[in-house]
Amino acid sequence: MMFTRRSFLSRMVSGLSLMCAGAMGASAAIAKTVASGLHRISGVIIRRGDSNYELWRSSMVWYIFKPDRYPDTIIRAQSEQDVIQAVNHAREQGLKVATRATGHNPARGCLRNGGMLLDLSRLREVEIDADAGTAWVQPGIRSEDFIKITHPQGWAFPAAHTGIVGLGGYLIGGGLGWNMSDWDIACRSIIGAEIVMADGGRLTVSATENPDLLWAIRGAGPGFFGAVLRYKLKLFPTAQAIIKSKYLVPIDKMPYLTKVLEEITAAKDRRLEIIAVVGRFFPPDEPPARRDLVGAVSAIAFGRSREDGLALLEPVARSALPAMSILKKEDALLSWSELYAGQETDHSSPNRTAIHNIWTDKPAEGLLALAERMQEVPPRSPRSFVLSAWGINQSRDDSDSSLRYAADHYISWYQMAETADDIEPNFKWLDESVELMQPYTRGHYINEFNSMRFPAALEVCFGTENWKRLGELRRKYDPKGVFHGYLGQT
Ligand SMILES: Cc1cc2nc3c(=O)[nH]c(=O)nc-3n(C[C@H](O)[C@H](O)[C@H](O)COP(=O)(O)OP(=O)(O)OC[C@H]3O[C@@H](n4cnc5c(N)ncnc54)[C@H](O)[C@@H]3O)c2cc1C
Repeated sequence: MMFTRRSFLSRMVSGLSLMCAGAMGASAAIAKTVASGLHRISGVIIRRGDSNYELWRSSMVWYIFKPDRYPDTIIRAQSEQDVIQAVNHAREQGLKVATRATGHNPARGCLRNGGMLLDLSRLREVEIDADAGTAWVQPGIRSEDFIKITHPQGWAFPAAHTGIVGLGGYLIGGGLGWNMSDWDIACRSIIGAEIVMADGGRLTVSATENPDLLWAIRGAGPGFFGAVLRYKLKLFPTAQAIIKSKYLVPIDKMPYLTKVLEEITAAKDRRLEIIAVVGRFFPPDEPPARRDLVGAVSAIAFGRSREDGLALLEPVARSALPAMSILKKEDALLSWSELYAGQETDHSSPNRTAIHNIWTDKPAEGLLALAERMQEVPPRSPRSFVLSAWGINQSRDDSDSSLRYAADHYISWYQMAETADDIEPNFKWLDESVELMQPYTRGHYINEFNSMRFPAALEVCFGTENWKRLGELRRKYDPKGVFHGYLGQT
């Protein structure tokens, strides 16, 4: 059942009538709810047992395959005040709180058994200070929608490569976005925040106010002990010319291709993004099952002008990459929306199930190992793929963020499921690939990490020191454990 404030009040009236009729149990429950302030919530309240509960529950995670976890109550906040009311209610009633922004996290941790799921997706305000080059954003705003607002004002941000991903979870867990080797991982551009803490207080966070919380929200990911109402972000002067070249290379050329990628990475400017993907992409107009496995390289230059952009692409243009390609499209000048349109492919399919990632200093060896495995033991779904991002971490300064950016390169891999029967085999493939990748693994990125599957590796995501400090901060700010920790954490 859907509760708006008005319907709640009418329920309350009928509840009071029941009380007069002697239904003491029901009236006691209603009185308790009213006392705890839930009636002041202007958003939607769904309870387990309501006829539309399952519809709401399943809509909370973006993925097609939903986990068997069932919160007692789902509250979709309509205002920042709702968030405060909901957290107070949860604390008073002993309900644990899981927060959600847009439901893309692969651990699907916003769905827990029991307690409250606090959905922040309706909080989408954006306030730009174009003179200062900063923005306040609420967590429900999606990456592409945010850029649509900043770009006409001359500003950009390393928002997620897939436009539908919301800033709420993306920022708190890191944020590998556009032009990331120049603009850095997105969470390092969080310069302030307002957060509802476990005691219901609204804390302002900046480099000078509660700086330990600023440190935490720069990377803690899906185990943070508070609900961020809004982030303050540093923006970047927008690129005047985004130019993309794309190449498809036969799979038997992978050893050569990875060598060429190493050379390009060594020579490239920070404003050139190099992403290499292995999957069934050729020929592109065939259905995935009839396509060949290939290596696909995207080189995206964030130039100050067309000439500057083309100069950034030089190391690619003069490499062996164009000559070894079976298909290529070079020097395409793209608007931001065209850039986003290119990403909405199989890459962003909600059929994703088992996924994993590593930070690595051996991207060539790691990518080759996974490409070989995809040939030897083809994943169940032809839409499964491996992604690698080359030379993305140029700063390595981790002291201001809980994120541990453990190496310069990134590899992630995604097993799709066409039906539920694929899920277990996918996890088997994943477990074996994790073993295979051990020699190249320097850390993991929490935003693309399934802590339910690999709880022991949670500490590796942060490093021992950061993990310890996050635990201390949790004990300080949420001593009674109002907010859930990481899924799978003991
Ligand atoms: C198709 C697709 C494309 C992606 N592309 C990228 C990419 O380009 N770069 C990249 O780095 N990652 C990418 N990701 C991963 C993505 O960044 C993470 O999955 C991220 O957690 C998603 O955020 P969300 O708000 O949608 O997730 P949710 O599942 O809603 O949130 C994840 C967790 O974050 C926490 N959280 C969310 N909002 C708040 C808040 N306001 N306050 C406190 N805690 C909060 C909660 O613990 C929540 O469980 C992609 C994922 C998908 C599915």
